[in-house]
Amino acid sequence: MTRTADVVIVGAGIAGVSAAYHLAVRHDITSIAIVDPLPPLTLTSDKSTECYRDWWPNKPMVDLMSRSIDIYEELAQLTDFGLNRRGYLFVTAEEDRYREFETQASWAGELGVVPRVNGAAATMKKYPFLTEATAGSLFVERAGWFRAQDLGQWMLDEARSRGADLIPNRVVGVQPGSVTLDDGSSISAESIVLAAGPLSKAVGSMAGVELPLFSELHLKVAFKDHLGIIPRDAPMTIWNDEQRISWSDEEREALTEMGRQDLLGVMPIFCHFRPEGGDDSPWVVALWEYHDQVMEPSWPLPVDPLYPEAVMRGLTTMVPGLGAYLDRLPESVVDGGYYTKTAENRPLIGPAGAEGIYLLAGYSGFGVMVSAGAADLLASHITGSPIPDYADAFLLSRYDDPEYLTSVSSLEDGQL
Ligand SMILES: Cc1cc2nc3c(=O)[nH]c(=O)nc-3n(C[C@H](O)[C@H](O)[C@H](O)COP(=O)(O)OP(=O)(O)OC[C@H]3O[C@@H](n4cnc5c(N)ncnc54)[C@H](O)[C@@H]3O)c2cc1C
Repeated sequence: MTRTADVVIVGAGIAGVSAAYHLAVRHDITSIAIVDPLPPLTLTSDKSTECYRDWWPNKPMVDLMSRSIDIYEELAQLTDFGLNRRGYLFVTAEEDRYREFETQASWAGELGVVPRVNGAAATMKKYPFLTEATAGSLFVERAGWFRAQDLGQWMLDEARSRGADLIPNRVVGVQPGSVTLDDGSSISAESIVLAAGPLSKAVGSMAGVELPLFSELHLKVAFKDHLGIIPRDAPMTIWNDEQRISWSDEEREALTEMGRQDLLGVMPIFCHFRPEGGDDSPWVVALWEYHDQVMEPSWPLPVDPLYPEAVMRGLTTMVPGLGAYLDRLPESVVDGGYYTKTAENRPLIGPAGAEGIYLLAGYSGFGVMVSAGAADLLASHITGSPIPDYADAFLLSRYDDPEYLTSVSSLEDGQL
């Protein structure tokens, strides 16, 4: 059996459903087939921390994210998905790093982002739950979080109400002009969008396109702050210093016996948290990527049983009040997924090189915040609408430029 559509989208994560919404609702292309064997938004897109920010280390990323945030602000007029502007608060106890904040703030200004840098006294006055060792902070204002799953479901419903079809199959073949599904049927379409999240590399190779992507495992823990240590109106709060966890001698011995030397040495920066849910919710979500684990995506995820404890100890350095939980950890739930990314941590958006095949891939740890801007850009490529200045920075063909290739390793990736 062969169906036809104007556009086939492979993958119904936030990348795919956002593309369907933009094409159907904002560009009036209503003959769309979204193909995914899983229920929409359930592989990676419902595991995210759901945060957004315009704070990125280079102009194309700032421009793309700013466009995305503009669109989210527009959509928030149409539906409630809890878009807030709580901001991102980067905190340090090191004077040198505090001075780096000042330098960063001045170059960010050139990119159009205006963060606020505060010394110890001003930071502690506003956020008294932080450690007294705080030397200062940098606050990113155009930042916060939202309920990405609610937004994704709404975008999908809107696209479907305009005629988009959701087809519960796996794509097993991709060629210019059509895709083959695992039930032997095919869909012919002028445009095919590859939005397969952590499986993008495999789906790209079905189309004969080699995608420069790799995947890192990232975990997240939600814990029940039943003692109310974290104020419900706290921003996304990020510790910017390396640290050592202060284990007791017995704990050190036990960890050594368990082969967990990774928890005994200097641990990386960016241990962070944010409140989850409304004012009466006790939940807080927290992340700390100390594993640095690049791997082929596989499920179920390999979960570190010590993750909740390590994260709680890391957070206690920044928020000493959380020490109340060290004797007995509160109820917690761990999940996570993969950051599938390019070396310089910029997504792949636009033509893939093969006729009529487009990419929405490499969404890394920013896929929720970028999905609207990326879908908007993709729709411009597909419909031949004018494309913005930043478009070239996200094409796969950027890697054909030898100068770009040599600069890739020196580009800052800006990822938390
Ligand atoms: C712990 C964690 C925290 C994060 N925090 C944030 C955050 O705060 N802010 C932010 O912006 N981002 C965050 N992210 C990143 C964000 O979640 C991802 O970038 C985003 O969800 C990726 O969306 P996607 O649609 O590309 O992929 P997915 O959601 O994985 O969707 C891909 C879909 O493609 C389908 N698919 C794959 N192969 C095929 C095939 N052959 N045929 C048909 N369908 C196929 C899959 O079944 C899947 O449904 C976080 C990620 C993690 C893991």
